[in-house]
Order: sequence, then structure tokens, then C-alpha cells
Amino acid sequence: MPPFDVPEGDPFGPHNLPYGVFSPPGSSERTVGVRLGDHVLDAGAAAHALGSPYASLLARQTLNPLLAAGRTAWSDVRRALTAWVTVPAHRETVEPLFHPLSEVTLHLPFEVADYVDFYASENHARNVGRMFRPDAADSLTPNWKHLPIGYHGRAGTVVVSGTDVVRPSGQRKAPTDAVPVYGPSVRLDIEAEVGFVVGVPSELGRPVPLGDFRDHVFGLCLLNDWSARDVQAWEYVPLGPFLGKSFTTSVSAWITPLDALDEARVAPPERTHELLPYLDDAAEEPGGYDLRITVTVNGHVVSEPPFSTMYWTAAQQLAHMTVNGASLRTGDLYGSGTVSGPAERERGSLLELTWNGRDPLELPDGKRTFLEDGDVVTLSAWAPGPDGVRVGLGEVTGRVVPTV
Ligand code: MN
Repeated sequence: MPPFDVPEGDPFGPHNLPYGVFSPPGSSERTVGVRLGDHVLDAGAAAHALGSPYASLLARQTLNPLLAAGRTAWSDVRRALTAWVTVPAHRETVEPLFHPLSEVTLHLPFEVADYVDFYASENHARNVGRMFRPDAADSLTPNWKHLPIGYHGRAGTVVVSGTDVVRPSGQRKAPTDAVPVYGPSVRLDIEAEVGFVVGVPSELGRPVPLGDFRDHVFGLCLLNDWSARDVQAWEYVPLGPFLGKSFTTSVSAWITPLDALDEARVAPPERTHELLPYLDDAAEEPGGYDLRITVTVNGHVVSEPPFSTMYWTAAQQLAHMTVNGASLRTGDLYGSGTVSGPAERERGSLLELTWNGRDPLELPDGKRTFLEDGDVVTLSAWAPGPDGVRVGLGEVTGRVVPTV
């Protein structure tokens, strides 16, 4: 079907228009693409063909120039693209610049600057607390309701969907072991998350207030924070996650602009603790997003985590990570933290789904506690869009391959 004739109700219709970076068939050249249905528009070529001033932002090898251009430019480019793919007068010029999605190579869409990962799901944090601190009076740590807990991860190992995940090796020490051992992780896990992509930098020394979130953050993607639980358990005290997380983080190939997700905005869960002014969002526009995530292992659905249940919003996370004066750079990526809903089959990690390996998942191809070599994990998602149409968020997938 020609790209202009994308069926009504397609989650990748003209209401969505996510951005990626691709190489056309038979080429290794990278350029910015925009997805429409099951096609990719060479956005830079379209800008050139139509004499658009946005060619300088779109005929590029990464999304970073567009990310840096700022909110007004983001809106203007999106408006132009919408016209290019919907106005019949453009059809003859634009239609030859589409490629079938199945024939292109998709790349990591932006150069990742800094990478931060949070811990913003109350259900996830309580599950982890119950498992690892069963004797504590509260399953949440005392700080949890006062600040969005996070850590700095490794930007250079963020990879695009489809990249194999090599099973990491590291130190581990079970409570019953006398000394630590080194070897391939035997508790390799996933974390179903949403990643937020920063476009506009901020100045060193100047915190970004809650209300400036949309001036800095361009869009979101799906993110799988692969985690070696055995490595993590032995190394994390007292400075937090390190090698159990830094080996690979996968992101979806498509970045959905926040401008495509206005209908998905929802109020976050009710706040149970009074917040310091820089985090108090009671008077702000709704900061939550209603994103419906599905997690599959080897094609079998194991979980459907609801992003709307996240306690801390992306705006609060941005405000918190800059409140000390730390600056933002174009291409900064921050993960929401594992998304877990209140129900058992809404949990975003195998750690929780199997209760630390106690309750294996029964899959058609066998029982699973943690991941085995050859397993393929895919996160996909959608959000409510205009007139009841879904906004597709694509997918992030990865296959576990044996330690080299
Ligand atoms: Mn994580």
C-alpha cells in the first residue's frame, strides 16, 4: 500500500510521526527518517525536494541537531512534516522518498550524552524492598517518597533495538559462598522502562524547574535496562548499581515526540507526602503519561506494565537531576525506572515476576526464572491518541547471546 494511503486508525498514522535514523537499502549512509505506517520517509530528502528551511535539521546523520533546535523548531518541523505526508499536492514529490520499513537498517537515533536511570515505580520499589529487606518496617526506604532515586549509568553502551545482548560476566557471591566467584551472570534480567530524551541543554549552576520540562525534553522511547542481578547484588553496597547494569542498555529505534502524546497525559498517582517546592507538581499540568507496555519473552506475553502508575514524573526527575546545578546536554537520556503496576502480571522485571526465582514463569518453551542464552525479549507499547486512535511507540528487542 502506498505510504500516503496508510489505513485510518494505524498507530503510526500522521498523528504520530516518530523520528529515527536509517540507512536506505544497499547504502551505509545514515539519515533522519520519519515513520508513517510501515514506511520510512527520508525526511532530509523531502525537505530538500520541497525547498524547506528544515533541511539543515533533517538531512543529518543523527537527531542531535533537531534535538538541540528547541521547542519552537520541534513544533514547526512537525507541522511541516504533517503537511508533507498528508497534503495531496505534495504526494508526487514526497511519495518516492519513502522506503518500506522492512528494507531499511535502523540505527541508534541520537548520540547519547549522559545516561541516568531512576527508580520511580512505587510497586517496583516495594516489591524489591519486600524481597531484599523482608524484616524492614516499611518496604520503601525512608527517602523514597521525598526524592526520585537514581544513578548515573553508562551512555556509551546504549544500543538500538535489535542489537544482540552479550551475557555479561562479573563477580558474584551468594550468601552461602565463602568467597566471590567470577563468571557469566546466571541471573540475567530485564527492566521494562521508558527513556526520556533531552534536546535543549541547560546552563551549569541553574536548576531546571518543573514547568520547563517541555522546553528541554524532546520525546520518549522504550528502554530495556538489562540487569545482571547476581553481579548487582554483590557490588551495589554502598554506591549503587555499577557493572550489573553498565554492559548494555537497549532503546527503541523510534523517538516519539512529546507533541504526539498530548492525549496520553494523565495525573500521576496521589501524593502521600508533602514535597519540597522544587518537586511539588500540584499546580503543574498533568505530568504522567498513559503508556501501555507489553513484555514478551520468545514471543509470549509475560507482563503488561502500565506507565500511568509511576509515582515520580519525568518532569520531577528532570527537576531533581538538575536541582544541584548539574547541567543538561543535548542527547542526555534518562530512564524512568522499572515500570511495575499493582497486579502480578504488570511487573516489569523477571526478578519480580518470578519473585527472585522462587516462582518460575511457565512458558510454552519451558520454565524461566532468569534469561537463558537465545532468549529474545521485546518491549512494545502504545498510548491513547487523538479521536481514539492509538499512538504506536514501536518496540525494543534484544536476543541474549552467550558470553564471548
Ligand atoms: Mn533500571
